[in-house]
Amino acid sequence: MATPMRIMNSSKVMKAKRMMDYNLIKSKRKTISIYIKPGGVVEVRAPLRASKALINSFVTAKSEWIASALERLSVREANKKIIRLSPEEEKACCQKALQYFQDRCAYFAAKMGVQYETIKVSKAKTRWGSCNSKGNINFTYRLIFAPEDLIDYVVIHELAHLKEMNHSNRFWEVVEEIIPDYKERRRRLNEFRDEFEFIIS
Ligand SMILES: [Zn+2]
Repeated sequence: MATPMRIMNSSKVMKAKRMMDYNLIKSKRKTISIYIKPGGVVEVRAPLRASKALINSFVTAKSEWIASALERLSVREANKKIIRLSPEEEKACCQKALQYFQDRCAYFAAKMGVQYETIKVSKAKTRWGSCNSKGNINFTYRLIFAPEDLIDYVVIHELAHLKEMNHSNRFWEVVEEIIPDYKERRRRLNEFRDEFEFIIS
């Protein structure tokens, strides 16, 4: 039985041609992998000995996967909401955030029976919060742009570390006692991270 011939329309061919552009990183690894980086850059990581022909045929074989990944990325990028702040506004946000986190921490710490030392606000871009064994808690001011129930999730998460300095089952039980829907909030918080972009200028 003959295999049906696949006819590509011109735009698909164009896409396939464009997709042959990629950044190649060779290293001491055993397999070839493709990564889609921010801005739609295709990165191929390959073993040192992999030939250009082998890598090209791998990329071609994965062209449909690459196309749909690029498509998803561009939809996400197009729907991003921009939060634009001047340095002064950012400073004001930090002050407002500090007050807010102090209030929420005091409220939930009493509920959870924990005690903390200090609360600080940072300008961290990728980390919502952190807590050390001395009881010093840090939050990024960016969090105050998230819905209140998601902010509470981070507050409770950090306070729970005062009981369990890890992410063990015991830790998540402490969180769950206060917010049984923590998994749902955690998921929405990750979405929030991807949907918003901060521009400080
Ligand atoms: Zn944690």
